[in-house]
Amino acid sequence: MASVKSDDLHQAAQSMQIKQQNVTILGATGTIGLQTLDVIARHPERFSVFALTANSKVENLFDLCVKYTPRFAVMLLESAADELSARLKAAGLDTQVLFGEEALVEVAAHPEVDTVMAAIVGAAGLHSAMAAARAGKRILLANKETLVMAGSLFMQAVAEGRATLLPIDSEHNAIFQVMPQTQGRLLADMGVSRILLTASGGPFRNATLEELNLVTRAQALNHPNWVMGPKITIDSATMMNKGLEVIEAHWLFDASSAQIEVVVHPQSVIHSMVEYHDGSVLAQLGNPDMRTPIAYGLAYPDRLESGVSRLDFLKMGPLDFSAPDYVRFPCLRLAYEALDKGGTAPAVLNAANEVAVEAFLANEIRFMDIPAVIEAVLATSNINAVISIEQLVSVDASARKQAKSIMSVLKGAH
Ligand code: NAD
Ligand code: MG
Repeated sequence: MASVKSDDLHQAAQSMQIKQQNVTILGATGTIGLQTLDVIARHPERFSVFALTANSKVENLFDLCVKYTPRFAVMLLESAADELSARLKAAGLDTQVLFGEEALVEVAAHPEVDTVMAAIVGAAGLHSAMAAARAGKRILLANKETLVMAGSLFMQAVAEGRATLLPIDSEHNAIFQVMPQTQGRLLADMGVSRILLTASGGPFRNATLEELNLVTRAQALNHPNWVMGPKITIDSATMMNKGLEVIEAHWLFDASSAQIEVVVHPQSVIHSMVEYHDGSVLAQLGNPDMRTPIAYGLAYPDRLESGVSRLDFLKMGPLDFSAPDYVRFPCLRLAYEALDKGGTAPAVLNAANEVAVEAFLANEIRFMDIPAVIEAVLATSNINAVISIEQLVSVDASARKQAKSIMSVLKGAH
């Protein structure tokens, strides 16, 4: 009889202890979705793909279904779902195809699902992320807009549903890594004095106001450090992304706006820091590659090989730090103001931003019109206390309408 090496026995015992996680990936065809699948594919013994969802790209979701054979695939539109279903049948696959927002909710809350990667972009990700929270899933939250729009209700749903919330945004993941025992605890009790949220500063970090007025779509889509979807890339260029992240940090870590400081750090090697009362500052470092926070979220509290190249301190060069400029990057100021105003203000900010970014991507407005539109929408919207998701959905719709009407005036003026 062949002898079994003790190493093999150890490995077998370990793999028996780890229950395979059924994973739903909301927004599977996006940048975060694809990187999640890349990490999952490295650990087939730990993860099984339960459902994959996409907005409209049938071809892309078809390819992913062939590769990962999920139980469910969801497209937003019925026509796209019909096309995907026919193609999967012809290929001999038995993946069940569903469509619409309700189907997103269904695969996020399905009883057989353990883990949900919430990686839809924008307010469109709200209902499915809420459903995962209510159903008590392990939620890997990339969709920061959910927290910006509905932070109080989402955190409440996480607590009531006994969900496990793991931030995937690299900064918040970094903060979580150096302060993992966060949920339900006050920063003061943990000895935390400040959260230092690092920002690359985007492609226009050193641009003058005159140059910012002339920025083109192609220039704004060219981020120096990260490869991301178009919306978050524009948000990074205006620094609204950092503003949304300040609000995200407020909800995730129960920190006041005064406790969250943005530090511009162009190399994106330090992904954020936490300062403690005794003067210690803990940081998480790594190469800018989202597979690190994704792998951390998937395996927490374990660590997994993620495919990310190692940080080489000897080749890295100097690390720089500076203060953000609220004059050239008014979006950051607007986000702090919305957070301080509270209530529905962040939902208004988020909706106006989504509409303005879409218009900029369609070459309908100029780069510096983005903050102007958001500021005008905030100034003309009623801000109320947050009561329900239905209320926030209607606030989102009116802010979008208001942004569009302000933009039609702007477009006429150009
Ligand atoms: P992306 O544009 O690359 O992908 C978006 C995904 O959402 C796609 O799968 C798309 O099909 C789906 N989608 C779009 N609109 C939809 C709709 N109306 N209904 C259903 N599905 C829809 O975006 P991304 O860069 O992967 O970002 C996803 C989220 O993660 C965003 O909230 C972003 O802020 C956040 N995030 C991304 C990064 C990054 O490095 N890309 C980093 C931190 C946080
Ligand atoms: Mg980020």
